[in-house]
Amino acid sequence: LLLLGSICVAFIAVRWSAPSFNKESLKGARVLVTGASTGIGEQLAYHYARLGAQLVITARRGNVLEQVVSKCLEIGAQRALFIPADMASPSDAESVVQYAIEKLGGLDYLVLNHIGPSPYRMWDGDVEHTRWLLEVNFLSYVQMTQKALPALEKSNGSIVVVSSLLGKMCGPFALPYAATKFALNGFFGGLQHELAMQKSNVSITICILGLIDTDSAMEKIKGYINMTAYPAHEAAWHIIEAGASRQPETFYPWYTFYACLFRDWFPYLRDQAIQNSYTYNPQVNK
Ligand code: NDP
Repeated sequence: LLLLGSICVAFIAVRWSAPSFNKESLKGARVLVTGASTGIGEQLAYHYARLGAQLVITARRGNVLEQVVSKCLEIGAQRALFIPADMASPSDAESVVQYAIEKLGGLDYLVLNHIGPSPYRMWDGDVEHTRWLLEVNFLSYVQMTQKALPALEKSNGSIVVVSSLLGKMCGPFALPYAATKFALNGFFGGLQHELAMQKSNVSITICILGLIDTDSAMEKIKGYINMTAYPAHEAAWHIIEAGASRQPETFYPWYTFYACLFRDWFPYLRDQAIQNSYTYNPQVNK
């Protein structure tokens, strides 16, 4: 037990003693952020802007992106541009990366954050939705990575992948979404190995997030679970810090790290705890 305890303490200490983050390194950095019209992506854009980065942001709604870009310029971005795109379309995913590289003259950070809307309820057997969501939440990430890698190799750049605790632990009500997040962790975790084995200078940071107080998340979980949601601006800052210090994996808020650490220790108790944490009533929640 003592040995096990020591290993845990050492592991936790290593996990939290992340390399420090040099804010100056982001001044003028060329950054592409996806899903930046709302939520965590919008907050990512504002933080990068305050740090003086050069930004290209994307999502589907051009009118909303235009407002985010104006605010980014007001608060300190060296440059800020937007390109509307639908990540369900493979050609859109490619052209966004091409646009960013052309306009910024290269790329230092590819921040993959967007998700398509998906219902929060018992799985209703809709296979088409799962297929579409895999395209938006997963395949577009792979495609953008493939397109951006040569530019990132040139700049010693970084890929930041925004994932979820639901990509590490199974839970109810968001099956297609969770499947796309498991796919991201599998693909980008494997790519980390391959890049390291090839002595590549491109870093990948996988961000494991718990519940964050974005409008879309709050709307979804209403009536299903009572749980503290952490602020989107703090989550965004944590993501930027982890990306800039080239951490392979990062967790926000704190409990996500421990949930992953102890995930497989007591599977029966874990599953009971997960199922009991929801206020599900078959008569009310269809
Ligand atoms: P939001 O729903 O607030 O934002 C999603 C973004 O993606 C919007 O900018 C939206 O803009 C864009 N988007 C939606 N569909 C498409 C599409 N087809 N093509 C291109 N862009 C699209 O999400 P959050 O901010 O809550 O989440 C951000 C990230 O954090 C996600 O990867 C999510 O999985 C992760 N996360 C969030 C958690 C939370 O509790 N909020 C918990 C764990 C992880 P538009 O509509 O203009 O296209």
